[in-house]
Amino acid sequence: MNDEKAIVVFSGGQDSTTCLFWALQHFKEVEAVTFNYNQRHSLEIECASKIAKELGVLHHILDMSLLNQLAPNALTRMDIKVEDGVDGGLPSTFVPGRNLLFLSFAAVLASQVGAKHVVTGVCETDFSGYPDCRDVFIKSLNVTLNLSMVTQFVIHTPLMWLNKAETWKLADDLHALDFVREKTLTCYNGIISDGCGECPSCKLRQRGLDEYLKSRKEF
Ligand code: ZN
Repeated sequence: MNDEKAIVVFSGGQDSTTCLFWALQHFKEVEAVTFNYNQRHSLEIECASKIAKELGVLHHILDMSLLNQLAPNALTRMDIKVEDGVDGGLPSTFVPGRNLLFLSFAAVLASQVGAKHVVTGVCETDFSGYPDCRDVFIKSLNVTLNLSMVTQFVIHTPLMWLNKAETWKLADDLHALDFVREKTLTCYNGIISDGCGECPSCKLRQRGLDEYLKSRKEF
């Protein structure tokens, strides 16, 4: 256990909730930050607040409506459909520079509250082509942040090389499988827990869970 403080970039979804449990196991003090950029479902913010409260974690909510103003996308506009990218293109949920901005603001917050660690659930394995989910981007940003501020940060990415089944396994190893399954919101249609079962996000989540539960039974 590290006796320093960590800030977890937290959306109330499966990945960032798993990261929150991970951080609680690794750091003495943990705070969470959620960015409000007018997500389709304000439920996402509510869900994140509820989880943070239940885990006794101080929760910061930062207004990032600027992001929606700059880059309208399927996560924020009801009139844009959630679609996979065609011909190797990016899905309609892509927001250019989102992780660049979120992690930079998280680092500013971290420096304000005396945290040296920033934890994010970005993942290169299932990265859908988002350039700012790549490990090389995170490493580059870590260097940039350290050059930009007096505080020296470490960005932690516990999910970087995990697939969805392995992320479920991590939640299970942290004794949080049922919690993550029942209380998180990943569904693009705003349905908590196992979700609508139809959207790309639900399908990915369910496929990973099925795969993990099957492998667990085989042991
Ligand atoms: Zn769904």
